[in-house]
Amino acid sequence: MILKRLELDFFRNYVHAEVELSPSVNVIWGENAQGKTNLLEAAGFLSSCRSHRARYDRELIQFGVEHAFLKGEVAAHQREFTLEARLHRGERRQLFSNGVKLKTAGELGEVFNTILFCPEDLSLIREGANQRRRFLDDAICQLRPKYAAALAEYKRLYEQKTRILRDWEEKPSLLDTLDDFNLRMAQVGAVVIHYRAHFVRRMSQLAPPIQSDFSGGREELGLRYETVSTVTDPEAPPKAILEQLLEHQQSHRRAELESRQCLSGPHKDDLAVEVDGRSARQFASQGQTRTAALSLKLACRELFREDTGEWPVLLLDDVLSELDARRQTFVLERINGGQVLITCCEEDKSVPVSGRRFRVRDGSVTA
Ligand code: ATP
Ligand code: MG
Repeated sequence: MILKRLELDFFRNYVHAEVELSPSVNVIWGENAQGKTNLLEAAGFLSSCRSHRARYDRELIQFGVEHAFLKGEVAAHQREFTLEARLHRGERRQLFSNGVKLKTAGELGEVFNTILFCPEDLSLIREGANQRRRFLDDAICQLRPKYAAALAEYKRLYEQKTRILRDWEEKPSLLDTLDDFNLRMAQVGAVVIHYRAHFVRRMSQLAPPIQSDFSGGREELGLRYETVSTVTDPEAPPKAILEQLLEHQQSHRRAELESRQCLSGPHKDDLAVEVDGRSARQFASQGQTRTAALSLKLACRELFREDTGEWPVLLLDDVLSELDARRQTFVLERINGGQVLITCCEEDKSVPVSGRRFRVRDGSVTA
């Protein structure tokens, strides 16, 4: 899939911008704080309605303005799509595909997918499990609308159960509903686990060869899905997982009531990442950390391609400057095939890539 054209109004520091992109590599360069990352963020937003650094739409709207508009012309599945997002302060966003209003953000993912790699992604390896869960969730949600629905329901149930556990001593009648919540959470949780396990298995086939190539054959990457301890085979059909989740809930019931916290379920899952058999989180060097994070993202890109038949658009924010020449060349060769948007600062604007170059200066883009 190709993002042919991007148009922004009042998005971050862009008052108005129109960019005609190359179907291959697009280098976006400029000084700090000019709007390079904002441009990638906008492209990413059109694929998932999620931003890697904003929690709320209002952060994306230009300071002092009430609305922001994003428009992308995308070629995918032998068709042309015009995707639009209209963001409003204090009101729900509206999404359109070829003028037709979309009901959910997930529908964008059926047309347009992006994979973003940015400096913050080092936290994927370095930090707690929630970063890695988010990585799994973002990717699977883009590919599987059923997963997105299950995950959203799980999150709602989790919040309700957390409230019950928090308040039950003051309001014991709340406990009457606990069993119902537990059962539904186990049902939905089993679906979540099943999808995550399949995704991790495929990632564990795709990512290690990338890490190995990246490191000249020296580094071996390992990925393992960690979920609720009673689940013996997370890839089993959800029905089989359900029984094991109920068993875990049962044995943690007292502890949950006493600690007033939800202790059982896939909301604590992790994706264990190892380099040469050791936990990357604890032992990987900076270079290994960066390589592992990038390998995960590039593997994800290949998985999307296997699933949808098309390369997702790759958004690389500030990665080249961090890599030595050999690794730069490796990345640029590896991504050969789909469309890429790469940002870099002024000094490394000479990176050896073909395609189109754009200069970003104070919220305006020139080819
Ligand atoms: P760097 O090279 O440092 O990463 P960059 O070119 O990627 O810089 P961006 O992150 O794109 O810079 O940000 C550009 C500018 O956008 C920043 O000065 C920031 O203050 C501004 N900005 C962020 N959000 C908004 C907003 N909602 N309205 C207006 N300006 C904003
Ligand atoms: Mg930036």
